[in-house]
Amino acid sequence: MTQSLMPRQFFEIAKQCKGFFSQQEGLFLYEKLLPVLHLGPALEIGSYCGKSSVFMAAACQQKQRLLFCVDHHQGSEEHQVGEAYHDPELIENGCFDTFSYFKSTLKKAKLDKWVIPIVAPSQRVGSVWTTPLSAVFIDGSHAYESVKSDYKCFAKHIVKGGLLIFHDIFENPEEGGQAPYLVYKEALNDLHFKQVHQLGCLRFLEKLM
Ligand code: MG
Repeated sequence: MTQSLMPRQFFEIAKQCKGFFSQQEGLFLYEKLLPVLHLGPALEIGSYCGKSSVFMAAACQQKQRLLFCVDHHQGSEEHQVGEAYHDPELIENGCFDTFSYFKSTLKKAKLDKWVIPIVAPSQRVGSVWTTPLSAVFIDGSHAYESVKSDYKCFAKHIVKGGLLIFHDIFENPEEGGQAPYLVYKEALNDLHFKQVHQLGCLRFLEKLM
């Protein structure tokens, strides 16, 4: 596995961090972000404990850009008590809450200066968002209405040449939920976007106009 130019300490911190994102995907995300960050700040939807945020923020630090990390930090449907991806270590004062863990991940990596956490549902943030963006990474709630809303609210703020990135794209329903895949297909049918890279379940679409 290539580690490209990413400093080793970020790789190690991301490796130790809880999350559902491979190191290989992270390095790929880092590498593909670098060439577009001159276009503006980047935005991540669904930061959870900060694993993918470390890779994105490492690229942002290198290019002296900000990363907005949007997450209500109460976990998605599948993280709640009794659900498949629940982690009892993330219960704080009786509630599922990933914000402290997220903050400590970014602080440990000394990347917190490059990250602006926005602790709110992405739909609410998207409804008032106006800042042009170099890249938007959609990895929040995987319910269809949520992915669709994230796409509708934020994709229009990506500047020409910027990237729309999806995680958890599974063409085969036996491998994973279909909502991100359905929205990704809608984005592919939009003349504003064309796919430029892919790795595992990550897809990168370039904004053409
Ligand atoms: Mg994901």
